[in-house]
Amino acid sequence: MKIAIIGGGIGGAATAHALLRKGFDVTIFEQAPAFGEVGAGVQITPNAVKAIVGLGLADKLFANAFYPKAVTGRHWQSGRQNFRIDLGPEFRAHYDAPFIHVHRADLLDILISDLPSENCRFNMRCTGIEQTAGGARASFADGSQIDADLIIGADGVRSVVRSQLFGEGGLRWTGHQCYRALVPTGGVVDYVAPESAFWMGPKAHVVTYYVKGGRAVNIVAVTEAQEWVTESWSTRASADEMLRDFEGWHPDLQKLFEGVTETFNWGLFDRDPMDTWSKGNVTLLGDACHPMLPFLSQGAAMAIEDAYVLAEALAMHRDLGDALAAYEAERQPRTARVQLEARERGRTYHLPTEEEMARRDEEYARLAKEDPRTTGINTDWVYDYDPRNFSRKLAA
Ligand SMILES: Cc1cc2nc3c(=O)[nH]c(=O)nc-3n(C[C@H](O)[C@H](O)[C@H](O)COP(=O)(O)OP(=O)(O)OC[C@H]3O[C@@H](n4cnc5c(N)ncnc54)[C@H](O)[C@@H]3O)c2cc1C
Repeated sequence: MKIAIIGGGIGGAATAHALLRKGFDVTIFEQAPAFGEVGAGVQITPNAVKAIVGLGLADKLFANAFYPKAVTGRHWQSGRQNFRIDLGPEFRAHYDAPFIHVHRADLLDILISDLPSENCRFNMRCTGIEQTAGGARASFADGSQIDADLIIGADGVRSVVRSQLFGEGGLRWTGHQCYRALVPTGGVVDYVAPESAFWMGPKAHVVTYYVKGGRAVNIVAVTEAQEWVTESWSTRASADEMLRDFEGWHPDLQKLFEGVTETFNWGLFDRDPMDTWSKGNVTLLGDACHPMLPFLSQGAAMAIEDAYVLAEALAMHRDLGDALAAYEAERQPRTARVQLEARERGRTYHLPTEEEMARRDEEYARLAKEDPRTTGINTDWVYDYDPRNFSRKLAA
C-alpha cells in the first residue's frame, strides 16, 4: 500500500516510522524546508513511553531522557505542596514505564532517525485533497499532485486535510495564552526541584521541568485573555512582560524567570471532539483531529499512540475501510476524553480566589489519601493505557 502523510511534526514522524516498520511504502510531505520543532520541552507520560517502546525506539528515548522524581502541585505564592505523585520505582512498575522529559527536537530526531531521506519531501504545502477511484490525491502549493492508496492528515491544529474532508470551522479560542521558554542551568539547581511542578495561582499556572538530561529548564507559563489578537499562533514576547505577568509569584520562579532570554507567547486553541476522522481513503491523526489544551501533557502522547495503533490496524486488516474503522474505534473515545479533561484542568488550575483554591487543595488531599498514586489530578486512566494491547487484541 502506498501511503502519503501530510505533515512532518511529532505525529507525522511517528506515523512514518511505525508504517515503515510494517513494510508500507510511505512518504511524508511537509510544508517547511526541513524537519523542525519549537525550542521547548515535552513531558512523555508512561502511556506515550509504552507507544515509543512499541515502536522499537526505547533505547534512543531513554538516552535523551530526564527522569523527574515527582509530579507536584504547588501554591503560586508560598510554594506549599498541594499534591504529589511520586515517580519512583513503584510508579514505574505499576505503569510498566517511566515518566520522562525530553527536548522536542530530541524527540523528533528519535522519531525520524530510521527514516530514509527519500521518504521525506519538504517545501510541500498541501492545498487540496480529493478522493480518486480506489485512492486519494493531494495537491500542493507548487502545483504538483500525488496519488496514494491512503492519505493521512497529520498537519496539526489548522489541518488543511481536515477542512477538505469535513469543512472549515470549529476551532475554539480557549481563553488561555502561554509563555514558553527554556533556561539553560547547566545542571539541577537549588531553585528548581527535579520535578514536573505545577504552580497554581489565580487565573494562571506555571509548569517547570528539566530537559536536556537536566541541563536546562522548560517553562510553560499560562495566563488568561479575552481574545488572541494576532493571526499567528505565537508571537515573540519579552522576558520583562513575562516577569510582569507573574509578579508576586514564588521567589524561586522569579529567579528562574530572570534567566529567560527569549520567550514566545502562544495562543491556545482546541476543538470539540470529532465523531469521525476518516472519509474514503483519507484519515486524520494527532492535532489534526483532536487538538487539545496542553494541561494534561497529552497532545504529543495522543499523536504517538495514534501512530502506533494506525500502523497496527493497517497491517492486520486486509480491507482499508476495516482498518480505519478499527483505528477510530480504538482512538476516538480515548482522545475525546483527554480533550475534555484537559479543558477541565484549565478551570481547576486557574481558580480565581484563595478560598476556591483552598477547597480544591482539600479535595486533592482527600483524594491523595484514597489513592496516593493518582491524587487529585486523577491521571491513572491516562497513564494506564498501553497501545500494545491493541495489537494483542487484534492478534487474539
Ligand atoms: C505549551 C504547550 C505544551 C505542550 N506540552 C506537551 C507535553 O508536555 N506533552 C505532550 O504530549 N504534548 C504537549 N503539547 C502538545 C503537542 O505539542 C502537540 O499536541 C503535538 O506537537 C501535535 O503534533 P502533530 O504532529 O499532530 O501536529 P504539529 O506538531 O502541529 O505538526 C504538524 C506538521 O504539519 C505541517 N503542516 C501543517 N500544515 C501543512 C500543510 N498544509 N501541508 C504540509 N504540511 C503541513 C507543519 O509544518 C508541522 O510540521 C504541548 C502543546 C503546547 C502548546
